[in-house]
Amino acid sequence: MSQQPILLDGKTVAQQVLNQCAQRVARIKAQSGITPALATVLVGEDPASATYVKMKGKRTEEVGMRSMRVHLPATTTTEELLAKIRELASDTTVAGILLQHPVPKGIDERAAFDAIPAIKDVDGVGVTNFGSVALLGFTHSSPDTGKEPVHGCCTPAGIMRLLAHYKVALRGMHAVVIGRSPILGKPMAAMLLNADCTVTVCHSRTVDLPGTVKRGDIVVAAVGKPKFVQGDWVKPGAIVVDAGYNAGNIGDVDFEACSKNASMITPVPGGVGPMTLATLIDQTSIAAEWMYCKTH
Ligand code: NAP
Repeated sequence: MSQQPILLDGKTVAQQVLNQCAQRVARIKAQSGITPALATVLVGEDPASATYVKMKGKRTEEVGMRSMRVHLPATTTTEELLAKIRELASDTTVAGILLQHPVPKGIDERAAFDAIPAIKDVDGVGVTNFGSVALLGFTHSSPDTGKEPVHGCCTPAGIMRLLAHYKVALRGMHAVVIGRSPILGKPMAAMLLNADCTVTVCHSRTVDLPGTVKRGDIVVAAVGKPKFVQGDWVKPGAIVVDAGYNAGNIGDVDFEACSKNASMITPVPGGVGPMTLATLIDQTSIAAEWMYCKTH
């Protein structure tokens, strides 16, 4: 490919999502008199996590919702965290609960994620939402169906939304997902499968990663290693989605080198990150609409 690839502009698309959210939040408030809250739970002092939580709180407030920030010490036990989550779960003013990943070693993060009721699991990290997405499909949760909304895991769901915005015809594509974490690679693979892609999931034990990536019509990098995906791994014309976010605003893809072959590519920053955040806020407002504006 000698042409410049199309930049998948997550920043602009995310802003459109947030604008729609603000309108939904205004309707919820007018109908119910309730200002929905997103509770963020941060455990420990990791500076990157603290920054993410701050950004999430800021976006929550920008669309007219309330940000409830819970900060627990690194010495918190699993039982103490579960008790806090149960308290937030029973607080009717809380529409969504986000537990910032990762929690300090020694805490059972899975148990904590799964203690969040599915409707308030607006980050889409619990087994119930994962199972619903994987088994039943995911069409950006909608309260119009009369069924409780399903929350997609925010990063892959945000990626699907970005691809939909750019009218990427996923059906029949060979998708290669690099990474199989419960919050990114696995739900990403499930969503791409639901979109009729043929999906290959790669991980640290994959043999011939470059050759496998080269067969991808669309490649999603979710590895956690800066500039990991090399330009010559990318098939000419492939779509490259960089879900990675490493220190210094560096993605998991060598952007310059991959741009030479890709037809479309996400920048870092300004690609997947803003879509993740917008999806979280969107799903919180959808949960709030379901909880406070019941027609069901
Ligand atoms: P993770 O839990 O550490 O998982 C990384 C995955 O990459 C694992 O499945 C691992 O394989 C695989 N991997 C590691 N080294 C590999 C190698 N040499 N070859 C092939 N696969 C390899 O990370 P994560 O939480 O999924 O995050 C991945 C990236 O996304 C990070 O850069 C993170 O910062 C970023 N992220 C961004 C957002 C956002 O909003 N933009 C949100 C979440 C995460 P094994 O399973 O075999 O160990």
